[in-house]
Amino acid sequence: MGIIGLGLIGGSLARALVAAGVPVIATDPSDDARTAARAAGMQIADDVATLCGNHPSMVVLAVPLRAMRVVAGEVSAALDDAPGWDPTVVDVGSVKGPVRDAIRDAGLAGRYVGAHPMAGTEHSGFDASFPDLLRGIRWVVTVDPGATRLGDGVPTSGKATDPDRLAGVLRLITAELGGTAAVLTDDAHDEAAALVSHVPHVLAGELLGLVAGAPVRDVALGLAAGSFRDGTRVAYGDPRRTEAMVTQNAAWVAPALRLAARDLEMLADALDSNAPTGWFFDRPEPLRDRRPRQTNGRTPGGVPEIPLRETAPPPEQRVPLEGDWPAELVERCSVGAVVVLMERETAVLT
Ligand code: NAP
Repeated sequence: MGIIGLGLIGGSLARALVAAGVPVIATDPSDDARTAARAAGMQIADDVATLCGNHPSMVVLAVPLRAMRVVAGEVSAALDDAPGWDPTVVDVGSVKGPVRDAIRDAGLAGRYVGAHPMAGTEHSGFDASFPDLLRGIRWVVTVDPGATRLGDGVPTSGKATDPDRLAGVLRLITAELGGTAAVLTDDAHDEAAALVSHVPHVLAGELLGLVAGAPVRDVALGLAAGSFRDGTRVAYGDPRRTEAMVTQNAAWVAPALRLAARDLEMLADALDSNAPTGWFFDRPEPLRDRRPRQTNGRTPGGVPEIPLRETAPPPEQRVPLEGDWPAELVERCSVGAVVVLMERETAVLT
């Protein structure tokens, strides 16, 4: 396994895979990160070309979104110099459509499988990484349906995802990393990620920004307790990383923000005119018993987890790895199923 970028996600992935007995070679432009990773027992290459020279069977791009295009180009150049080397290329970016475009432009579409680990912290860099961050978590794995056409008649962006490469990535996630995976198109991922990750990051920044500019800032911070801490946690992270995530997914984030702004405006109007406000506070009711479970046994800020109402476990679904099984997985995952196990000839979903 070759891992390019030893930050929070790449470092955590490298640590988790090394602990699972998977041979890893990794690289990072930072001398400090490479030294620390060597000290942690990892095989480290000085640069991307050297890493590729070791011919790993899978190359994971774990770099910031803004660096994906450059790094895809470096991997592509290394492939030109190594006939016979046939790696699968995976990324861990928080937005999928623009990464696939960069991958396609680098000539890597046929060997690409997109991936997004649905876990993270507000910290960056190798020192912040830890193996449990990526153990037992939900991933999104994105595919290009290839020959099929999107609803508006626009052809999809390149070659269809290679089923064998997809199976390899799903095996890694469900076996070595003990996780589960929703197999989706880039658009489905980017729309859903806007709602549960990118918009929340923007709103967290707005909450913190409101206080930063308030005349009572210091008094307010002195009074802040759980609601402010939980609502602003991700706003303490690297603002450039958040900005990159949000701007790269502008097509889905902007309309969702407009809806949120419209609702908040209506609430403010209702407050000004003493009109009913129950419609605003009751709207989340259908989801109040579906609080997301925390991963890794941690709760953000150590908040005790509110128990969920007990529901019956979803029934097991088995999809034989034959015919257009990737499309079958996309169809099932698009209504909430996830891959929990890859047997030799069957994908098991719940
Ligand atoms: P990070 O902690 O800042 O790590 C990124 C690493 O990539 C840094 O060590 C950086 O080195 C290195 N890098 C930058 N440019 C590079 C290049 N051209 N070639 C090789 N390495 C390069 O960021 P991260 O949070 O791990 O994010 C990595 C990816 O994971 C991003 O695409 C992000 O969208 C995705 N992701 C993040 C989270 C999260 O919560 N953080 C969750 C899921 C997915 P320098 O520090 O020396 O620049």
